[in-house]
Amino acid sequence: MPKFIFLICTAVLCFSCNNKTIMTEQERNLILSGDENTPFRVLTVDNATDSLFLRTECSDLNYEADSSLITRLIARMDTTMKAENGVGIAAPQIGIPRNIFLFMRIDKPGNPVEVAINPRIVNKPNETICFEGDGCLSVPGRSGNSVRYAWIEVEYLNAKGETVRERLEGYSRDTDFTGIIFQHEFDHLRGILYTDKLYETSKD
Ligand SMILES: [Zn+2]
Repeated sequence: MPKFIFLICTAVLCFSCNNKTIMTEQERNLILSGDENTPFRVLTVDNATDSLFLRTECSDLNYEADSSLITRLIARMDTTMKAENGVGIAAPQIGIPRNIFLFMRIDKPGNPVEVAINPRIVNKPNETICFEGDGCLSVPGRSGNSVRYAWIEVEYLNAKGETVRERLEGYSRDTDFTGIIFQHEFDHLRGILYTDKLYETSKD
């Protein structure tokens, strides 16, 4: 009987930590393949292998176990995003299938770039809106109008590993569209691209 209970406990433990595994050797090697000023290669849908990888469902990070690797990952993703003139970038776009992305805070003075680790969307309206001019570093040379929410309530870990819960609004490209950036990057973590959510095709 004790052996039986032990097996059940082991199974439950494995299941519960399944989504929060430490970085693999492959992930570690990619992150440490350059210093913080070295951009990653951005995966694009034009490449068949990249295109498949961009459809990967990502898993949560173990912040405590991998904090120094995560710090390097964030720095290199920031370098990559700036080199590409993006307003957001998600880990699967640079070959790391993990729940982490950077997003520009257009709602804050100076438009700082912040990180969301293991993010969740915890509340959203029933109605959707049409966001004009969505685009993606992984879908070069194209843009389109996407179906989005006008606001979202989100929860994530910040760069210090602290839990943040906040409401993000703004869906106008002319003023603030921080909430849209968050939705776009969050979709990447589930293998979804904005081209899956087109409201209508725009000028391609
Ligand atoms: Zn994108």
